[in-house]
Amino acid sequence: MKAVVYDGPRTISVKEVPDARIERPTDALVRITTTNICGSDLHMYDRRTDLQPGTVLGHENMGEVIEVGEGVDLVKVGDMVCLPFNVSCGACANYNQGLTAYCLVANPAPGMAGAAYGYADMGPYTGGQAELLRVPWADFNCLVLPPDAREISRQKDYVMLSDIFPTGWHATELACVQPGDSVAVYGAGPVGLLAACSAIIKGASKVMVVDRHPDRLRLADQIGAIPIDDSKVSPVDQILEQTGGVGADRGCEAVGHPSAADAWT
Ligand SMILES: [Zn+2]
Repeated sequence: MKAVVYDGPRTISVKEVPDARIERPTDALVRITTTNICGSDLHMYDRRTDLQPGTVLGHENMGEVIEVGEGVDLVKVGDMVCLPFNVSCGACANYNQGLTAYCLVANPAPGMAGAAYGYADMGPYTGGQAELLRVPWADFNCLVLPPDAREISRQKDYVMLSDIFPTGWHATELACVQPGDSVAVYGAGPVGLLAACSAIIKGASKVMVVDRHPDRLRLADQIGAIPIDDSKVSPVDQILEQTGGVGADRGCEAVGHPSAADAWT
């Protein structure tokens, strides 16, 4: 199959690699139809991790199930599925507490909890920026989608369920956004925009998004948020003005990783 392979820092290429295949009875094999490049991939691309050269990247994936192991009950061949990036066994003690990102079983490295596709130190699972993806513990790790997931235009929405949309949603959970709140979101990359979108879904009365890239601010405007360009105005003054001098009820920070400094200078 063809796959996106990490060859070393800032060196990535599309190569022929061995086909992903069913390895255990609880696996499914998915033909990838849509996949994303994530900001997290840049940590590996820029050598902020110890990713092994030869790794197939890609943890934001969706596609069609083309084969299932004999231990798979719920997922069927032909199902369109989204694959949340955290791999979990669906049975361990952490899973039972809802901590699916810290599965005690999926990552065989000593002392490590949690696994993901195509990611440094997250277990042996190859990524989905490829034609085929092996999905372990498929009954748990496949989110079966409605029939319209065959439409490519809908796939661009559904694939966001693999990582970015829940990440943005989680920012609003951490911020305890309630209906009627005013919300300030710093950063209008994919996570910030989907945090803004999530706040709107939750009934926020006003969502303000601070960034300095015109294309991102346009998208914030399109989803119904108030764009604030902090290269032109003071975001603090703007937020105070928008909130009658009180300030935002809630805040979501979607910039803070040090690597963001590259993009902001
Ligand atoms: Zn991601």
